[in-house]
Amino acid sequence: MTLQEQPGGPAAAPEPAAPQAPTAMARVGVIGAGYVGLVTGVCLSALGHQVTVRDIDPRKIGALNDGGVPIYEPGLDALMRDNAERLRYTLSLERLLESSDIVFVAVDTPPTYSGDADLSRVMTVVDELAAVGGDARHVLVMKSTVPVGTGEQVREALDRRGLSQVGYVSNPEFLKEGAALDDFMRPDRVVIGSFTPADGDRVAEIYAPLGAPVVRTSVPTAEMVKYASNAFLATKISFINEIANVCEEVGADVGVVAQGMGLDRRIGGAFLQAGIGFGGSCFPKDVAALKQLAGNSGYHFQLLTSVIEVNELQKRRVIGKLKKHLGALGGRRVAMLGLAFKPGTDDMREAASLVLAGRLLAEGAQVVAWDPVVADISDRLVGVTIARDPAEALEAADACVVVTEWPEVVRLDWPALAGRMARPVLIDGRNALDPDAMAAAGYTYEGIGRLPGGRGAGGSV
Ligand code: NAD
Repeated sequence: MTLQEQPGGPAAAPEPAAPQAPTAMARVGVIGAGYVGLVTGVCLSALGHQVTVRDIDPRKIGALNDGGVPIYEPGLDALMRDNAERLRYTLSLERLLESSDIVFVAVDTPPTYSGDADLSRVMTVVDELAAVGGDARHVLVMKSTVPVGTGEQVREALDRRGLSQVGYVSNPEFLKEGAALDDFMRPDRVVIGSFTPADGDRVAEIYAPLGAPVVRTSVPTAEMVKYASNAFLATKISFINEIANVCEEVGADVGVVAQGMGLDRRIGGAFLQAGIGFGGSCFPKDVAALKQLAGNSGYHFQLLTSVIEVNELQKRRVIGKLKKHLGALGGRRVAMLGLAFKPGTDDMREAASLVLAGRLLAEGAQVVAWDPVVADISDRLVGVTIARDPAEALEAADACVVVTEWPEVVRLDWPALAGRMARPVLIDGRNALDPDAMAAAGYTYEGIGRLPGGRGAGGSV
């Protein structure tokens, strides 16, 4: 079904539509072969579309043309192989434009020092389109997360460069790394904001086989749906983290509190897992960008300011917990299990591990880390030793911090590993382990918002 913007009030909630038969094959281009671009391209090829992916990074395009996958995303390599005949990779924008009618833009929009989104890659694409020229009526579909007003800015820039025949559609992406294929193929909704209904229709047709609810709206509103969604999810995380911190003070268990809250359908259980804060390439930058967007328009977004501050402080709370058990951290050996910002990805952007490791090194601690996928972080942080396996990381360690709740970390033989440590102090930054089992295995266990050793923490809903 399609949800149209209602001038007189909120529209009815979209209901899932029945999957539809594949529409005619479209010629699709994707600019940017990163987490979003590659997943978009490969998934659209799996829907039967002919896809050309363009990046400016010759290593990425070289690897893709050699059958490799330059990022870690579960299932992506297999889907890419299965649809290889409908996928092309190129460094040339000309080639992409020749072989496509609808062009998805999935370039990075990283934060600037001011917290605003850096739109330079997006605007480079517009310049490049103008340089290639031509009069084909492509539709540019913005998948990158861009501040409200960007679409209008791009529309103006296209017109100024003599590209008024090129259409523009905002189509924000909501996938999560680690579950990106499923999120793309089974989205909760597809948001399409367009200046002209015909351009929006062309994009809606591409997604028709998914049978997902479609929200049709204006370009600025579509842009805002993305920012508001990410800001709300980040707010939920900071909220439960503050509840966890209060739980520690008053002797309550945040896991049961979250379960009890989540059963209320008005609240829902998602994004209520307390931990050491959110990271990744999206939440921190999108929350900061929305705060800046509001500020630039003269509105002080008080709530988001707190959400950001709570998150920063949360990443540092582990240091206090370690000091409680070890005293001064100078010379202590601390093992970190997990480096990626979350399980299922090799993405290290804004990972909590970087803040934690940086703080530990500044305290004079020796940091040894292990991650099942990330094998090197020397380009981001110098001084962390990467262990070959968890046992090597834990050998003679004074404490271990679970930073990323990888299944490979959760399923470790924890009782056997306790004996390898100089002191079996275990800080579970993701509340991923059973406190009672860890206490029974000999660990001095502490989670986030859970009572040490699981004492009094239990309960069920
Ligand atoms: P990424 O850094 O992984 O990929 C961006 C790619 O674009 C890079 O490979 C880069 O080389 C390429 N690129 C830059 N300029 C280019 C140009 N002119 N032509 C061709 N390629 C160019 O970024 P990402 O994580 O895929 O994110 C892309 C956008 O999607 C961002 O705006 C992000 O906020 C948004 N987003 C990301 C996620 C996520 O989970 N990663 C989810 C939803 C939305």
